[in-house]
Amino acid sequence: MLDLTYETPKPKVIAGATGDWELVIGLEVHAQVATAAKLFSGASTQFGAEPNSNVAFVDAGMPGMLPVINEGCVAQAVKTGLGLKAEINLTSAFDRKNYFYPDLPQGYQISQLYHPIVGEGEVLVEMGPDSGQPGTARVVRIERIHLEQDAGKSIHDMDPAMSFVDLNRTGVALMEIVSRPDIRGPEEAAAYVAKLRQIMRYLGTCDGNMQNGNLRADVNVSVCRPGDYEKYQETQDFSHLGTRCEIKNMNSMRFIQAAIEHEARRQIAILEDGGSVDQETRLYDPDKNETRSMRSKEEAHDYRYFPDPDLLPLEIEQAWVDDIAAALPELPDAKKARFIADFGLTDYDASVLTADVTNAAFFEAVADGTDGKLAANWVINELFGRLKKDDRDISDSPISAARIGQIVGLIKSDKISGKIAKNVFEIAYTQDRDPEEIVKTEGLEQVTDTGAIEAAVVEIIAANPAQVEKAKVNPKLAGWFVGQVMKATGGKANPAAVNKLVAEKLGL
Ligand code: ADP
Ligand code: MG
Repeated sequence: MLDLTYETPKPKVIAGATGDWELVIGLEVHAQVATAAKLFSGASTQFGAEPNSNVAFVDAGMPGMLPVINEGCVAQAVKTGLGLKAEINLTSAFDRKNYFYPDLPQGYQISQLYHPIVGEGEVLVEMGPDSGQPGTARVVRIERIHLEQDAGKSIHDMDPAMSFVDLNRTGVALMEIVSRPDIRGPEEAAAYVAKLRQIMRYLGTCDGNMQNGNLRADVNVSVCRPGDYEKYQETQDFSHLGTRCEIKNMNSMRFIQAAIEHEARRQIAILEDGGSVDQETRLYDPDKNETRSMRSKEEAHDYRYFPDPDLLPLEIEQAWVDDIAAALPELPDAKKARFIADFGLTDYDASVLTADVTNAAFFEAVADGTDGKLAANWVINELFGRLKKDDRDISDSPISAARIGQIVGLIKSDKISGKIAKNVFEIAYTQDRDPEEIVKTEGLEQVTDTGAIEAAVVEIIAANPAQVEKAKVNPKLAGWFVGQVMKATGGKANPAAVNKLVAEKLGL
């Protein structure tokens, strides 16, 4: 593990009438594979296309149509597995999971129950600044990742009497990422999903757009007494844990947290009342902030899973996996550690800058050849703040990384003060101009010539004898002289030099 310095976050504890309870959470995340075509057909995966325009005969379940595996989807699953430090299974196989949905015309979903393409892995989940436990992190174990088809969409709200179906999503490739029940609270669950999304966005294997449903999570929640989870960890014996419920299809970080919290409290109330939790599948209703039973938990045999006779077992070669591994980009944990080591950034700044791979690349371009820490301040405080004000993305920033780098360089070499730099930034940002040119044209270069500064200090002291007397009694009033000198020099005097000279001349 890269970072052994993190402390483990504390589990969420809920105080009940009969004592404390802890939460145990395992997630099944469905991530849409970033790919142009579906898992078993050549139909497009383009989002927002005209309904039923991206449908091949095999997606529509036409008799006699045969699925053909999309190699690109397999490569993306392997890449994701490698990004989660997981074992890659050179042999995997597809199974049919039978059920009837109007938006699943085949009458079954092709999935991988018995032989998933990716086995055990792990992911480091760091707690954010708002978690109450910043700077802590937990390693969450991944049980498996399998490839499967998505279903289409039934539409019930277009007509009072009729339902419609859109098969554009039918057959789109999903990676189901199954975690071990290692997650111990609502914030951790959200941080886990965020970390998976971050890693997949770095890898380019899933765009992670939760609003479009590209990333959805089934959330399994149970409660136990303090100490029980540790017994489970020692033995891997699930009987130490409580009975879980699964909350289906969550696609918002906020709702994931609210649903977990609510579900845990519901289970605690049942248990404290002497009842027992039924293992079932539930739905979260954000309007009422409650979960409702959807169906009792089904078993694998209910689906009559069997190996899909239309598809051969999937055999991949180690050499192909090695090629994919060799081409992996630098991943978030490594990038963050490098930013801390190479640029002297704080853990927090490094997290902010590596949250998104585009931001990280932009920052590196700013920091190239100049002071990394100062560059980080400028990107996080000035640029991100300014972009946010304009509701813009870094990819269409009106000021380039090279130009922010120039500004940082100008500050670093004492050519302009930090204050003037903010004006230069604003001009460069709004007028698409070069910072060095702005400083020249507008005559903004900092006065570091102590002779010139000294002259201004002497002049102001001579003109304000009453203020001088006051400042001698109360040295804090020296600030007033500093302000006057800055004003007289149009803000261009080097502040450090002004402070020093004012103190000297006042005899402080
Ligand atoms: P199934 O085969 O019934 O779907 P799995 O063993 O695959 O069950 O587990 C599904 C998910 O439920 C996994 O993410 C796992 O971590 C989680 N899980 C299992 N047991 C518990 C539990 N007691 N509490 C919370 N989550 C659990
Ligand atoms: Mg399962």
